[in-house]
Amino acid sequence: MIFKKVLKFGGSSVGSEEGLKKVAKIIRDASYDENVAVVVSAFAGVTDQLLRCVKLAKEKDKKLKEEINNLISRHKKALSKDNWQYIEKLSKELLAVLEKIEKLGLEEKDTACVLSFGERLSAYIVASRISNAYFVDARELIKTDDNFLNASVDFTKTNHNIRRFFAGKKGISIITGFIGSTQKGETTTLGRGSSDYMAAIFGAALDTEVVEIWGDVDGIMSADPKLVKTAQVLPQISFEEAIEMAYFGAKVIHPVTMVPLIKKNIPILIKNTFNPQTPGTLISGQTLASDSPVKVVTSIDEVALVNVVGISLVGIPGGAARILELMRQRKIDVILVTQASSNHAICFAIKEDRLSTALKSLEKEFAEEIKIKTVSLQVFPSESIITVIGKKYLLYRFVQRKSQSAKSYS
Ligand code: ASP
Ligand code: MG
Repeated sequence: MIFKKVLKFGGSSVGSEEGLKKVAKIIRDASYDENVAVVVSAFAGVTDQLLRCVKLAKEKDKKLKEEINNLISRHKKALSKDNWQYIEKLSKELLAVLEKIEKLGLEEKDTACVLSFGERLSAYIVASRISNAYFVDARELIKTDDNFLNASVDFTKTNHNIRRFFAGKKGISIITGFIGSTQKGETTTLGRGSSDYMAAIFGAALDTEVVEIWGDVDGIMSADPKLVKTAQVLPQISFEEAIEMAYFGAKVIHPVTMVPLIKKNIPILIKNTFNPQTPGTLISGQTLASDSPVKVVTSIDEVALVNVVGISLVGIPGGAARILELMRQRKIDVILVTQASSNHAICFAIKEDRLSTALKSLEKEFAEEIKIKTVSLQVFPSESIITVIGKKYLLYRFVQRKSQSAKSYS
């Protein structure tokens, strides 16, 4: 069966009555004379709320019941009473997982399971609001490893499952974003914000003509409009530019989304659910020629710089490899690395919330050298990374957000 499009809805387009009505109209229009696959995120704010529920359950906090009641009644409001049965079933299941956490303590797989309810509820609701649409639980199709909160997809199995499932299917499928399952059938998530990526996985597997990402902004902008008044929507950018931008601060699209689509040259269209007439941003194999060498400026905050300095590193090959391997083992994402050719200083940037883990592991690894003062660690917290992206230009620069100076650990 031919599926021409995958549509993905997220941000505040799912969550409010106004948004859900617009979503339904866009889906109906798109499916007028063709089959469409639709991926939906959880209602706006719900994944965070579910994370709060996990925390409350872990701490055996009485506020948990109230939080769940709020969550369930918000979803019920989006459907007429005769459609509540399934929501009530899910609500019981959710309670059972949270009670298990209260009694037996928390495992990562429980968090993944709790988080899955956001997308399971929203996809079910969107499907119920559109006649001839059917609900698809992506856990049946997306097969992953058991890194429960940030799982990697097994593409051989997943593509096979998707193609087999959709062969002969017609109409509108409404698929949960964000979630998959292990070989054993345990629930996993593909990481925060990964519903975009999920849409790309379906697009690539079904060889669609386009993957449309519908959210609540007009497209990818040349800079953050909150920071730069003259920021403009970019009509067209390349896959590579989109990856750089997404990774370095433009929150409109998850950075991994482009990966499954590049090989098949399937373009992505960023659109605004609340302003569907605007053309949006097209991400494709081409970039628009531009007079200016600089196309986009992005920034990310809450970054820490770690500087490993020391004569112990001089002339010994593999200093950087040793440090990066350490970060890999701790699952810490290294955002940037710079190294002087002498190896005298290796400097890298990580998200601030991973700083204490990074420091502990470095202190352990270089314990001897730190003791005899041939290596020292310097930390610059609260930094921002500003990235300038342009045709053939990629420049990074750090600025300090607060006037703090380096802290030395030696
Ligand atoms: N609901 C998930 C999150 O908030 C996935 C997504 O929205 O893309 O991270
Ligand atoms: Mg998103």
